[in-house]
Amino acid sequence: MHLARFPRVRLGHLPTPLEAMPNLSKLLGGPNLYVKRDDCTGLSSGGNKTRKLEFLMADALQKGADTVITQGAVQSNHARQTAAAAAKLGLKCQILLENRTGSNAVDYCGSGNVLLDHLHGAPTRMFPGGTDMNAAMEKVADEVRAKGGKPYVIVGGGSNAIGALGYVNCAIELVAQANDMNLRIDHLVHATGSAGTQAGLVAGLEGLRSHIPVLGIGVRAPRPQQEENVYKLACLTADHMDMSGCVARERVVANCDYVGAGYGIPTDGMIEAINILARTEAILLDPVYSGKGMAGLIDLCRKGHFKKTDNVVFLHTGGSVALFGYNGIFEPTRPN
Ligand SMILES: *Cc1c(COP(=O)(O)O)cnc(C)c1O
Repeated sequence: MHLARFPRVRLGHLPTPLEAMPNLSKLLGGPNLYVKRDDCTGLSSGGNKTRKLEFLMADALQKGADTVITQGAVQSNHARQTAAAAAKLGLKCQILLENRTGSNAVDYCGSGNVLLDHLHGAPTRMFPGGTDMNAAMEKVADEVRAKGGKPYVIVGGGSNAIGALGYVNCAIELVAQANDMNLRIDHLVHATGSAGTQAGLVAGLEGLRSHIPVLGIGVRAPRPQQEENVYKLACLTADHMDMSGCVARERVVANCDYVGAGYGIPTDGMIEAINILARTEAILLDPVYSGKGMAGLIDLCRKGHFKKTDNVVFLHTGGSVALFGYNGIFEPTRPN
């Protein structure tokens, strides 16, 4: 796997740290938990979309684009990192936000990621949940072309074979770090949504023949659909790297038991996980992805899903800025 063959612009502070979480490991009574800090990629408060955007924005520049267009949920970390990347590279950015939760709360619609989209100079347009967002992006692309601009449309979450290269890169980086630390990784766990993160990781880890199993904790789709989405994209990513056939279907595993009522809708487990991580490791998770991913990991640890001697790495995909869009769900700590 030779990623330098693909166009890339540097946007992230890489490599991100790989750290132990001794306090959380102790609280749960094992396994040995570690965290790969992709919340620290640096671009506009960081997150997993930065790695994908290194390859997507390079492709946009190579194609002569002057405007990038993308879409996501209202509190989209992907939209915010795209707006930031565009600002840094001198491109215009148009953002389309789908109100999947139906919330009209002031914080949800104006703070957190939305505030940062605007700070980075990207106009946002809101659409009701269920809108055909790909069609909506094509309409905006036509508007840009009509004004003489050159649009580049980035799919939701940056999840195509180009964006997923960012997580092939993460797989290479993680294995190198673990080898340096003499850390045997028994499991890698992370939140999975639009599938590009898990697809890139699985393609990369399988391409390296690392034998590290990946578990995606779903935040939206039911398990069969999520696994199918990840598997398809992992195969496309392997094809894109000229490594067709390196991903076996059974290497794509998702657990979608922690979604709750739906995408972006709080669960008790998510709130508990955010509180625990903030108070044991001083790590900030987010309500939509990493909070539910960690809720899944904590529950699986409590249920004895892992061996006590296992080394389990949680990939922190970022998103803590969205905490400010979900202000009301956390109880203040009372003085006693
Ligand atoms: C987008 C996102 C994810 C999910 O990554 P996908 O590549 O879309 O599956 C996880 N965590 C955070 C914080 C995200 O913003």
